[in-house]
Amino acid sequence: MNIEKILHDLEKKNPGELEYLQAVREVLESIESVYNENPQFASVNIIDRIVEPDRIYTFKVSWVDDTGKVLVNRGYRVQFNNAIGPYKGGLRFHPSVNLSILKFLGFEQIFKNSLTTLPMGGAKGGSDFDPKGKSNGEIMRFCQAFMLELWKIIGPETDVPAGDIGVGGREIGFLYGMYKKLARENSGVLTGKGLNWGGSLIRPEATGFGTVYFANEMLKTKGESFEGKTVALSGFGNVAWGAALKATELGAKVVTISGPDGYVYDPDGISGEKIDYLLELRASNQDIVKPYTDEFPSAQFHPGKHPWEVPCDIALPCATQNELDKQDALNLINNNVLCVAEGANMPSTPEAVELFLEHKILFAPGKAVNAGGVATSGLEMSQNSMKLCWPLNEVDQRLHQIMSSIHEQCVTYGTGPDGYVDYVKGANVAGFLKVANAMLDQGVI
Ligand code: NDP
Repeated sequence: MNIEKILHDLEKKNPGELEYLQAVREVLESIESVYNENPQFASVNIIDRIVEPDRIYTFKVSWVDDTGKVLVNRGYRVQFNNAIGPYKGGLRFHPSVNLSILKFLGFEQIFKNSLTTLPMGGAKGGSDFDPKGKSNGEIMRFCQAFMLELWKIIGPETDVPAGDIGVGGREIGFLYGMYKKLARENSGVLTGKGLNWGGSLIRPEATGFGTVYFANEMLKTKGESFEGKTVALSGFGNVAWGAALKATELGAKVVTISGPDGYVYDPDGISGEKIDYLLELRASNQDIVKPYTDEFPSAQFHPGKHPWEVPCDIALPCATQNELDKQDALNLINNNVLCVAEGANMPSTPEAVELFLEHKILFAPGKAVNAGGVATSGLEMSQNSMKLCWPLNEVDQRLHQIMSSIHEQCVTYGTGPDGYVDYVKGANVAGFLKVANAMLDQGVI
């Protein structure tokens, strides 16, 4: 495999799509040797076929704000690969959304979904709509207008979207309501649904819980655990709050949360009533920093800074892509970080990842660490198909098992001669092999 030539050709075809090219490079570098050892893959050109999405939809979303003004956003759905199951992946509503970001996320999703052991293909979608500061009515009207287009191309056996940045339980509710009205069916077409209408227990917390379960498996390889450790995490959204909750439950102290403007450091720990308070603020669409630091004076806000300068044992980047750069990685390494587990998708820049691997830090990529979210979505789909609702223990146990199995796959394919586990390589190779073999079995389509 000639990686530089493949990337050069891809860049010519997809100019300026930096995130997408970054994600493809990482996977190709990891799978190069396994690909070369298996000439059957090259014989049907798996690489060119796997880096190209099956199809991309873009559409106009017109909606009316509270003042009566008509606004237009762009909607997307990237159906990347369905070799092992229906397309599956979240919807992101954020002003930064563009095709490059959704292609990177959809590409990553192929391998992540493969790792979960469940039959799900890879997809991603969303819009450049900014939910910040919007009223409930505006969010509802936007979601309805978005679904007016999206419903034509999704379905419980074809493509099953879920949440991501800017899309939580409320948005899934509005999207699902409109889908049901248009399609005239009650089905598992979206995951992350409310508990009373087809949702699964644990789904809201699943990505964060899974992140901590995975990090715990990593720590176990060194005879360590969360007990008594200091945790720095970023963001405070769907993923971060679940991670904060579970890390605290396992005996750790979470000392940071962050937003695009900076981070909050609370040396007393962010747990219990503080987490509840933060959730209330988020639910009411308020900025969380100012009220939090007013309410809990032990906390300080560090504007324009990343939480990775705070000494910690465990770092959980849970906010967004490329939020942890080379300097952040150096700060963490100099402060003797033990484990870095990516709750977000591709939060570490390639230079930061290189440093973690070079220093043999326990480091694992988002596609393995945060796969608990989509795995629990897969469990939600199973429950919807069976018209059943599993009890909390059962879902949590299955999530736990899936995270352990993903960890095992990473160890199998990522352990080097010196015993160091390269989780990036392990996750990419394990995820790739399953999809590539399925593509091989199904012919050139
Ligand atoms: P949310 O929108 O719920 O939360 C994102 C959080 O990150 C918010 O607190 C946000 O702050 C903060 N944030 C946004 N941009 C930045 C930035 N540039 N620097 C620092 N903080 C920032 O999203 P999710 O929790 O759903 O998703 C977070 C990450 O996890 C994403 O990479 C997503 O793809 C990934 N992921 C999510 C899954 C899920 O189940 N939701 C599943 C698997 C992966 P503010 O609100 O102030 O903007």
